[in-house]
Amino acid sequence: MSENDPYRKLYPPSPTPTDETCSCPAQHPAKLMCALGYNPLHCMECNKEILPSSLGIGATLVDGIANWRAIYDAIDRLWLDSAEYELWAEHELAEISSPVNRRGREISSAINEQHKCYYWYFQNQSVDDFEPISNCPVCEKLLDVYTGGIFRQLTCEPCGLVTVGE
Ligand SMILES: [Zn+2]
Ligand SMILES: [Zn+2]
Repeated sequence: MSENDPYRKLYPPSPTPTDETCSCPAQHPAKLMCALGYNPLHCMECNKEILPSSLGIGATLVDGIANWRAIYDAIDRLWLDSAEYELWAEHELAEISSPVNRRGREISSAINEQHKCYYWYFQNQSVDDFEPISNCPVCEKLLDVYTGGIFRQLTCEPCGLVTVGE
C-alpha cells in the first residue's frame, strides 16, 4: 500500500511496523496508553508498543484491554476532532474518575499482577504554556520523576499512574 494512494485512509490499518515495537534488551514496566493504535501496551523506557504475547496476560484480560481501547479511542478521536464533542471528550479524558479512566485503571492493575504496569493519565498538552501537574490526581501526593524513558514522566506508585512531566 503506497503512502500516496489517495484511498489509503479507507483501508484497514497495516500491522505495527517492527521499528515501532519495543526491542529493549531488558523488560521494562509497561503503561496502558491508547495512542490511536490497536495495541495500547507501551514500554515505559522506549515508549513503543510491547508485544502483548510477551506479557503473559490471559485471553480474558486481552478482551478487557481491547474493549477499553475501543472506548478510549472513540473518546480520544472525539477530542482530536476538535468540534462539537471536544469539551465533553476532554473532560472524560482529564477527569481521573470518569468511566473510561476508572475502567482503564482497573485493567491496568489487572495487567500489573502479571507485569508491572502503569495507567497513562491524559493531560491536554496542546494548550499554550502547558505546565504538567505535579501532584497525583487520585491521592494528591507529589508525583515521582520516573528514571528512564525518552521524555520526562511522572508516576504515582501507590495509584499506578504515569503522566507526562514536561
Ligand atoms: Zn522498550
Ligand atoms: Zn496517587
